[in-house]
Amino acid sequence: MAYDPNNVFARILRGEIPCKKVFENAHALAFHDIRPQAPVHVLVIPKKVIRTHADITPADAALIGHLHVVAAKAAADLGLADGYRVVVNSGDRGGQTVPHLHVHLLGG
Ligand code: AMP
Repeated sequence: MAYDPNNVFARILRGEIPCKKVFENAHALAFHDIRPQAPVHVLVIPKKVIRTHADITPADAALIGHLHVVAAKAAADLGLADGYRVVVNSGDRGGQTVPHLHVHLLGG
C-alpha cells in the first residue's frame, strides 16, 4: 500500500494540524494522543516516512531504537516511574488506523 502524504501524522509533522507536543528533535516527534486510552497516552513518531512496522528495514535500526529512547524519556518526564506499556499496531489487521509508524506509550 502506498503512503498517504495527507495522513493525520504527516499533517502534524508539517504543522498543518496542532498537537500537544511532549518532545521533538530532528528525528522524532512525541505528542499526546487525542483520544487517550490511559491517563498518560503519548505517541512517538519518526519524521522519516515509514508507513508501518512491516516496512522497517535494517537501515532504520538506529531510528527505531531512537523512538524507544524518546519513549523512555517521555515516560520518565511524565512520571511513569512505576511502569508503562509500549505498543505498536501494524497494518489493517493489527489495529493500525493511521498509516505512519507510531509507538504508543501508555501509563498511569
Ligand atoms: P493506531 O490505531 O495504532 O493507528 O493509533 C492511532 C492513534 O492516533 C489513535 O490512538 C488515535 O487516537 C490517535 N490520533 C488520531 N488523530 C490524532 C491527532 N490529531 N492527534 C493526536 N492523536 C491522534
